[in-house]
Amino acid sequence: RDCLTSGYNRRYLDERLAALASGPALAAVLVDVDHFKQVNDTFGHRFGDLVLRRVVAELAGGLPAGAFCARYGGEEFALVLPGGNAAAAVDAGEAARLRIERHAWHELAAGLRITVSVGVAHAAGPLTDTDGLIGAADVLLYAAKQSGRNAVAHRDERTGRVLLAGPAARRRAISQVGPLDTPA
Ligand code: GH3
Ligand code: MG
Ligand code: MG
Repeated sequence: RDCLTSGYNRRYLDERLAALASGPALAAVLVDVDHFKQVNDTFGHRFGDLVLRRVVAELAGGLPAGAFCARYGGEEFALVLPGGNAAAAVDAGEAARLRIERHAWHELAAGLRITVSVGVAHAAGPLTDTDGLIGAADVLLYAAKQSGRNAVAHRDERTGRVLLAGPAARRRAISQVGPLDTPA
């Protein structure tokens, strides 16, 4: 367990990913808090810690059955969804983004607004290398940041094009990044 947030830690993530690699399908959803340095700079590091605990509670609560959330490092988290299809993973990522956006952050500080950017990678199993899946999610997370943050990026399974999920898909352009093929 991660001692700050009481959620799962990186070690748990790595062990579970290794165990899940042999399954029929696996999705990794990387979540990074937007402009989090500014939260620390404005309200202090202790306050930032409180925000991270609430982020974990929102991310971990409301996941589909069989999925889990782990702290990847710093203000970055990984949601792991075994067995489902790509569309379900995108839906879970967008639902998580919306839970964070809609959290009652004003209870902590007047006018506080916290959002996250999300990258969703899905692959059919068995996987030889779950690092490739995490790497693919990381590239997509970067694309979500580039699009203006508070967004979920994923790849069209057929064309490999980077797309945004939810309402952001209609509002914003997205830069095409990284390899166009999904990880092996
Ligand atoms: P971006 O939207 O590009 O992600 O901007 P950012 O400010 O979130 O990104 P950056 O990587 O510059 O800053 C991450 C910050 O997260 C800096 C670091 O101090 C803070 N952070 C990492 N771990 C912790 C933690 O455990 N507690 C607190 N309070 N802050 C943390
Ligand atoms: Mg970060
Ligand atoms: Mg950040």
